[in-house]
Amino acid sequence: MPEDELRELQLERLQATVKRAFFNVPFYRKAFQAIGLEPGDIKSLDDLQKLPFTTKQDLRDNYPFGMFAVPMSEVVRIHSSSGTTGKPTVVGYTRHDIDVWAELMARALVCGGTTRHDIIQNAYGYGLFTGGLGVHYGAERLGASVIPISGGNTKRQIMIMKDYGSTVLTCTPSYALYIAEVMAEMGIRPEELKLRCGIFGAEPWSENMRQEIEKRLGISAVDIYGLSEVIGPGVGIECQAKNGLHVFGDHFLVEVIDPVTEKPVAPGQLGELVITSLTKEALPVIRYRTRDITTIIPGTCSCGRTYVRVARFTGRTDDMLIIRGVNVFPSQVESVLLEMGGTEPHYLLIVDRQGALDTLEVKVEVSDFLFSDKVRGLEELEKRLVSELESTLGISVKVTLVEPKTIERSEGKAVRVIDKRKI
Ligand SMILES: [Zn+2]
Repeated sequence: MPEDELRELQLERLQATVKRAFFNVPFYRKAFQAIGLEPGDIKSLDDLQKLPFTTKQDLRDNYPFGMFAVPMSEVVRIHSSSGTTGKPTVVGYTRHDIDVWAELMARALVCGGTTRHDIIQNAYGYGLFTGGLGVHYGAERLGASVIPISGGNTKRQIMIMKDYGSTVLTCTPSYALYIAEVMAEMGIRPEELKLRCGIFGAEPWSENMRQEIEKRLGISAVDIYGLSEVIGPGVGIECQAKNGLHVFGDHFLVEVIDPVTEKPVAPGQLGELVITSLTKEALPVIRYRTRDITTIIPGTCSCGRTYVRVARFTGRTDDMLIIRGVNVFPSQVESVLLEMGGTEPHYLLIVDRQGALDTLEVKVEVSDFLFSDKVRGLEELEKRLVSELESTLGISVKVTLVEPKTIERSEGKAVRVIDKRKI
């Protein structure tokens, strides 16, 4: 769609969303009234900035269904987030919402390189988590053959992948890496599989991690983005250019803001992604603070899509560690490890405090071939890692090399940080 036309459609849909939220959700009505704003005040897309933000806490405060804009008789599906701290956030969908979501996911799969001739092994978890069913409905809408295997039981995953000739794998990047590892243990080479494409998301992952997965599984891997509060997977995805994720602008408006001043940052600068839904019926979200850190990529994409692109995610404001006043993201560590080689991309950051001083220890798995090597080789590797990590992160780091396969593997989202300072 030409950009002018898209902007017109966005404004029309934004105005409808604001009205729907104002008249049907007491939370929004109160928030608008508190700043003297009425739906009629939204006259252009620039007026988006007049609207109040919505946070995960707002969803929790209105647990479970208080943010819904339709009666429960209109809600046909309920999902919720894992809720590792406190109450989970609950999201609902009308029949139309499910339809839109399936369409968006089908669109995302195509953008990521899938066709209806593919056999999609969907190893995202099925259940309250939106990953499994989100991909599933999209794959069916596209007309591909979907295997609803869900996460876990890795050996069976690989057997099915081989026997059914799966061509596309969908799961978290950390699980994809684990599948590759188990495959190697089983003595199965990537050439023995028909797998050609991977669509990975639900956690931030580095460019080096992509190359590692592509090499080990013999596939092309793309990054997909979504979050349950906004709809689930299918908010945005990389195209074949692999230069940023296209966000489906006919359904979502994006802004990138400074998380502290809450003002928009200049294109190319890192900030927090804020999303406004444009078509959601059951749970419209206005300026939802995703806590995901990215930047808007200026210019047009070589693929021809006019949707705005955001850079691959650096991390979440939640994941961002402040160690001795310095911002540290686990993905930075991952990037260094993969660039240097000699280690496996399985790592754990342990943050602690000794006296008044924060400490960072990075536990890293050594590759098999190096572990059997002489002690001197390991000492050298440790020294190089310390120096690389310290220059990248800007703080002093202790590196502990551990034996292969001693850091716990994940079948969903990986745990990368243990912060002992809070305990
Ligand atoms: Zn593109």
